[in-house]
Amino acid sequence: MSLIDEVCARMREAARVAKLDPDAFALLSKAERELDVEIPLHLDDGSLRMFEGYRVQWNDARGPFKGGLRYHPKVDMHEVEGLAALMMVKCAVVGIAFGGAKGGIRVDPKSLSKDELERLTRGLVRALGDDVGPTKDVPAPDVGTTAEMMDWFADEYGKMVGRLEPAVVTGKTIGHGGSEGRDVATGAGVFIVYDALKRHLAIDPETATVAVQGYGNVGREVARQFDHHGYKVIAVSDSHGGIHREEGLDLAALAAHKEATGSVRDFPGAQNITQQELLTLPCGILVPSALESQITASNAVYVEAKVVLEAANGPITAEADMLLAKDGVVVVPDVLANAGGVVVSGFEWTQNRENVRWSREEVLDRLAATMKTAAEDVWSYSQKHATTLRIAAYALALERVTAAEKERGRLR
Ligand code: NAD
Repeated sequence: MSLIDEVCARMREAARVAKLDPDAFALLSKAERELDVEIPLHLDDGSLRMFEGYRVQWNDARGPFKGGLRYHPKVDMHEVEGLAALMMVKCAVVGIAFGGAKGGIRVDPKSLSKDELERLTRGLVRALGDDVGPTKDVPAPDVGTTAEMMDWFADEYGKMVGRLEPAVVTGKTIGHGGSEGRDVATGAGVFIVYDALKRHLAIDPETATVAVQGYGNVGREVARQFDHHGYKVIAVSDSHGGIHREEGLDLAALAAHKEATGSVRDFPGAQNITQQELLTLPCGILVPSALESQITASNAVYVEAKVVLEAANGPITAEADMLLAKDGVVVVPDVLANAGGVVVSGFEWTQNRENVRWSREEVLDRLAATMKTAAEDVWSYSQKHATTLRIAAYALALERVTAAEKERGRLR
């Protein structure tokens, strides 16, 4: 099943649990708009290459469309649809006034120079035209995109409309209107959610060990957060492979090693393992923080973790979800666990619109309060309806979006 099919299957189950009207499911399980654009790029050598860009605007009943931009060679419309639908659910779960969207360009960003990436990003802005805007659709970074690219995005949009509009995009650098705390928001949010739920989970926080798949923006911060709070991070992996050290990894030294060599592999004192081995290591908490569909029907039964925190979007397939539940593994779903990024993106948007600056402390305090409330809401819903945390999160979100659709008259 593609990600969008999985998300819709989960929405259908959630709609059943929430006893939603079939019309509500029909409306919320379809994108409002899908944009497929061709972006011409003059490469540094003068030749022209065309790139395909996508933007899926899933739903804006609760506020402007919101969701990241992914630059990756495997991006396609189906993937973007799935990620856009997840954004609708995510924003509603954490109660921020945004809808759901996602976009991307099918490109390997590592194959382009910085100048080419800048021209490509500016080309995307021009191709999207007035389909984006501060009160319409507000992109942000995702896999393969950076704060600097968001700066280029805002700058090009400003030129297009003839005024400064920093709130057209979030995840910018601090100097260009970005928010304090956005750099750590997703990883910090993962830990806050875990911490709020830990008394309900069948693990001993005193001795639980942690394995993190993916060592990018999110994975690195997740590992740092657990380490900072006294947990032993015993394994991490990246696109080159993984490493394991049962006594715990020295994360400061690992960051330096990754910086110097471009990979976590061959870290002194740790054993090299494969990406697959990381997922099935005996540990308390497994945190997939890379890409979709990493835990599938073929490896789910070998997962030994007690809890899986979905820091990545869609890392567990629907079939794997069932197998994990059968084995008593608690899954904290992406739409709750990794929502810290979009929450602080929302804070950035508010600061830009009001032309104010919040301190890092204020941002992180507000993030903690928002994530804690969402975790408690989802836990209570799952208990009340005897369902998984994932279906509870989806059901809660669908109820909230349905209420907004009724208010604006698209549902009776
Ligand atoms: P990133 O590109 O910075 O990092 C991805 C990491 O995964 C890299 O270290 C890469 O080497 C690694 N990786 C790729 N394939 C792998 C594999 N097979 N095994 C192990 N590692 C592998 O991306 P990111 O921003 O950290 O995003 C990671 C995930 O989190 C994505 O699913 C993204 O949609 C989701 N997410 C990100 C944010 C955010 O704020 N950046 C917010 C919410 C969700």
